[in-house]
Amino acid sequence: MSGIILLLTQSLLYFGVMAVLFRMRHAMGLGAFLCALGVMHFLETYLAAVFFIQLPFGLLSPGSTVLFSGKLAIILLFYIREDAETVRQPIYGLLIGNFLMVGLVATLRLYGPPVSLQGYNPDLALINQMGVLMVWGTTLLFIDAIALILVYERLRSLLPRSVVLRAGVSLAVILSFDQVAFFVGLHWVTGTPIDALYGGWIAKMGAALVYAVYIGIYLSLFERQKAETPPEPLGDVFHKLTYRHKYEELLGTTSRDALTGALTRERFEAMAGPMLAVAIAEGRPCSLLMVDADHFKSINDHHGHVAGDAVLRRIVETMRGQIRSKDAVFRYGGEEFIVLAPDMGEAAALAAAERIRWAVEAGLDDVGDPVPTVSIGIAVAPGEGTSIAALLRLADSRLYEAKRLGRNRVVARPADIST
Ligand code: GH3
Ligand code: MG
Ligand code: MG
Repeated sequence: MSGIILLLTQSLLYFGVMAVLFRMRHAMGLGAFLCALGVMHFLETYLAAVFFIQLPFGLLSPGSTVLFSGKLAIILLFYIREDAETVRQPIYGLLIGNFLMVGLVATLRLYGPPVSLQGYNPDLALINQMGVLMVWGTTLLFIDAIALILVYERLRSLLPRSVVLRAGVSLAVILSFDQVAFFVGLHWVTGTPIDALYGGWIAKMGAALVYAVYIGIYLSLFERQKAETPPEPLGDVFHKLTYRHKYEELLGTTSRDALTGALTRERFEAMAGPMLAVAIAEGRPCSLLMVDADHFKSINDHHGHVAGDAVLRRIVETMRGQIRSKDAVFRYGGEEFIVLAPDMGEAAALAAAERIRWAVEAGLDDVGDPVPTVSIGIAVAPGEGTSIAALLRLADSRLYEAKRLGRNRVVARPADIST
């Protein structure tokens, strides 16, 4: 079999099976796909150490040409169809798994040579090669995977129309970088001649082309219907990248309280922690407003429960009119609501709370006596607390303070009491 046909057959087999597992992720979860990806890593390392073929342009290893390049292509496909938060899983898994492998081998070698078995000459070449190079290769893989996503995203504005072109160029860039960087390590450790740099590089450029075409075929055959993930700001890939649109998706699709349309208490429990954690990780503030309807019992008593229900609906509507689309309104209890506002500092939170307070008082005065009003307690992370529990406690005690001071008011820090 000629070398080129061998490489093409291997790449087709590798990509084909991985793509089928990936395609089946909705039916059986990502586990099978991720395990297969991890297992292949072992063969890739082994082949890269022992199996070379000669092509007209040089010597190369199918382990690195087909499997290593293929893995990056699969990771890119994974990113294109899922998101950075999900693709982080195999990237970190491979990093940690590889270092674990190196650590286990290193401790084995402390033991000395294994017992030699009669008539069998064990091949310890691979074991002996795990060390500096393996650590270097693993670190590079980690950098490659992240850089691949970043380059792919950067190319979005230059090549907005073609996913295949973008995938091909980003794979070519990253594989070139990898080839040079890995070769430097190889040359330094084993004195490998410079010729080996070219053969492997040409093969990897071929791999970039072939895998970009495979990605294109896969996307157009199987996952055309789903629009591509919208671009995200670069820089803090894993934390930020996909959190926001996941969050927005949640806001749009998940459980809302039937009466008011606010998000439910359950949603609050599920979303508040992660929202706050992201804000803190990014060094941004996050405000929590606890809003309670004043004298609601007497509103029910005077106007009836049905009218009371309508007032609750209108309070939520009014709150929505005073906050940004990324702020979330939850119904925390009967006539008690929470507004969670990411990227909102104390001054803005106070202003928003005042707007809400005023808009309820002014907008619902047609209800008649007693006119519905709200009291609001504010707590702002990270300055006043870094956990939802702490913010809740503080906002709740300030809400209580607002009630005590006569209701229809906002309480933030002690100095900022206003009517
Ligand atoms: P304040 O908060 O100002 O201290 O007085 P309040 O009267 O609002 O206080 P409290 O929390 O004791 O009463 C809340 C009332 O809200 C009691 C309950 O009947 C009413 N309520 C709770 N959920 C609903 C609802 O879904 N619909 C209606 N109509 N009333 C509700
Ligand atoms: Mg109340
Ligand atoms: Mg209450």
